[in-house]
Amino acid sequence: MKSYKIAVLPGDGIGPEVMSVACGLLDIIGDKANVQFVKEWADIGGIAIDNHGVPLPESTLKICEASDAILFGSVGGPKWESLPPEKQPERGALLPLRKHFSFYANLRPVVIHPVLSDLSPLSQSRMKNGVDMLIIRELTGDVYFAEPKGRDQDRAYDTMAYTRAEIERIARFAFEAARKRKKRLHSIDKANVLTTMVFWREIVNSIANEYPDVSVIHMYVDNAAMQFVINPGQFDVVLAGNLFGDILSDEGAALTGSLGMMPSASLNEKGFGLYEPAGGSAPDIAGKDIANPIAQILSMGMMLRFSFGMHSEAGKIEQAVMNVINKGTRTKDIANSDCQTTGTKEMGEKIAEEYLQL
Ligand code: NAD
Repeated sequence: MKSYKIAVLPGDGIGPEVMSVACGLLDIIGDKANVQFVKEWADIGGIAIDNHGVPLPESTLKICEASDAILFGSVGGPKWESLPPEKQPERGALLPLRKHFSFYANLRPVVIHPVLSDLSPLSQSRMKNGVDMLIIRELTGDVYFAEPKGRDQDRAYDTMAYTRAEIERIARFAFEAARKRKKRLHSIDKANVLTTMVFWREIVNSIANEYPDVSVIHMYVDNAAMQFVINPGQFDVVLAGNLFGDILSDEGAALTGSLGMMPSASLNEKGFGLYEPAGGSAPDIAGKDIANPIAQILSMGMMLRFSFGMHSEAGKIEQAVMNVINKGTRTKDIANSDCQTTGTKEMGEKIAEEYLQL
C-alpha cells in the first residue's frame, strides 16, 4: 500500500474547521484508492504563538521537513494584531515557511463556475467566454526579497531585482503549464518603465523558443489589471513576478465573488508543495460552522495532483464539488435566494457522498 506523510497545519480562525472537513474527505479518498495518508498535525500562526511563543515553532518545521507535502489552513486574527510585525502570524510563519522550502512557484486557479456567475462583481456580458485561468506567480524574488531595502528619517526603499535563473525557472514552469492547457501564455510586466521588467520580457522570449507550440502575449501590468475586468475570458495561463502576481491574483479572487472557493499551491524545484486556501482566517465567521470548506478541499485536491500524481482522484474532487454546487447545496458565502444554506460540516459530507458515487 502506498503511504504519504502530510504535515497538517490548520492555523487560526476558520482554519481548523475547514481543515477537519478536508482531512475527513482525504481519509475517504485514501480508503477508496488504497493509499495511506499519515497526517501529522502541528501548530502554526497565532495558536503557535499561544502554545510555543513563536508563530513557526522548530517542532512544526521539523514535521514539515519530514513530510511529503504540507496542507495549510490560514493564520492570523485580531488577538495577535498588536504584536510587532515580524512576530505576527502571517509575517512570522507563512513567509519564513515559503522561504525555508524555496517555494518559488505559486499557482492560483481562477474559475467562475457558470451557476455561481451571479456572485461575481462582473456583469454576465463580461463573462460570456467563461472564466478559467491559472495565475502563476513567482514567489521568492522581486521587491519582497531583493536587497537593499531600508529606511532612514526621510526616505524608504525596496529593490526590484530578478536574476536570469529566477526568471528562467518560473517561465519554464509557466510554459509547461500552458502546454498542458490551451497553449496560451500571458506574461505580465512593466517593460515600458522598469529595467527589471525589460530583462523579464527578454528572458521570457528566450524561453519561448523552447516552446514553439505555446503562443506568448506580453501585457503591461496596468493593462492586465484592466483586462481582468473587461474580458477575463481571454486569459488561460498568466505568468507574473512576485509583486504584480500578488495584486493580480487577488483581483482574480475578487472576480469569483468568494474567497471560500479559491485553492492555491506553492511548489519548489523538487516538487515539494504547500497547499492552502487563497483566503485568510476569516475571524468574523470562525467557530460558527458557516465557513466554506471548498477552498481547503480543492487545495487538498491540488496536493493529490501535484505532490502525489493522483490525477484521477483530484479530478473527482473537482467534479464532486461541482455536482454539489449544481444541486444547489451552498454555504452562506455562495448562496443565493433560491437555495438553503448549508454548514461547513454538512457541505463536507455532501461532497464526500458525491465523491463516492463517481
Ligand atoms: P479573510 O480572507 O480572512 O476574510 C475576508 C472575507 O472573506 C471575510 O468576510 C471572510 O468571512 C470571507 N471569507 C474568507 N474565507 C472564507 C471562507 N472559507 N468561507 C466563507 N467566507 C470566507 O481576510 P481578512 O479579513 O483581511 O484577514 C483576516 C485574518 O487572516 C488577518 O489576520 C490576516 O492577516 C489573515 N490572513 C491570512 C492569510 C493566510 O493565512 N494565508 C491570508 C490572508 C489573510
